[in-house]
Amino acid sequence: MAKEHAFTKGIPFVISGPSGCGKGTIVKALLEKYPERFALSVSATTRKKREGEKDGVQYYFISKEEFERRIAVGDILEYTTYSNEYYGTPKTQVYAHTEMGRSVILEIEVEGAMHVRELLPEAFLIFVLPPNAETLEARLRGRGTNTEEDIQRRLARAKEEIKMLPYYDYVIVNEDGGAAAAADEIAEILSAEQKRVCRQKEIAANFFLA
Ligand code: 5GP
Repeated sequence: MAKEHAFTKGIPFVISGPSGCGKGTIVKALLEKYPERFALSVSATTRKKREGEKDGVQYYFISKEEFERRIAVGDILEYTTYSNEYYGTPKTQVYAHTEMGRSVILEIEVEGAMHVRELLPEAFLIFVLPPNAETLEARLRGRGTNTEEDIQRRLARAKEEIKMLPYYDYVIVNEDGGAAAAADEIAEILSAEQKRVCRQKEIAANFFLA
């Protein structure tokens, strides 16, 4: 087991990518494989639960009124509307984990990512691409829980979201069945980010102390 040192600091980071790129599966793989390194920021949303989803696990499922109340009292770090529903990051989700040395995953869309860039300058941003457009559409249809209208809306949004790729720090391609490999790539990115000198300024200052 490696000695605990400053390089193990937790860092908040964003994972974005079009609906159907497989972000959810990658996040699950990350949390299962590296539970001591990663934690998930659980967002609040007004959208309906999909089959198999649990309140407080994938999202906090709340009403529009409750969401608007939380915005008004300043409990939401950033939020957006997507497919006519609210999605937002509760403030408490971010720092509770980084203080424990875990890096917090914000699985959010591009507009929210740009807000995070401003609000949390220490965060880094990862974009997940599906291998190609056909695979993206097949994955959205394969879910079986979205209506045709919703699928079309998500495809149109995917085109817009991919235009935002240049504003991200890292891009990874999620092949079919590639979630475990993508999770390993993200763990490598985190290791490199933790070693950036700009995050470790106190090392030189403290080297001969203590
Ligand atoms: P889905 O309905 O497929 O779970 O999520 C739709 C989109 O909303 C995804 O791109 C997801 O990353 C994004 N999203 C989920 N939670 C948040 C959030 O807290 N803030 C923002 N800005 N986007 C979110």
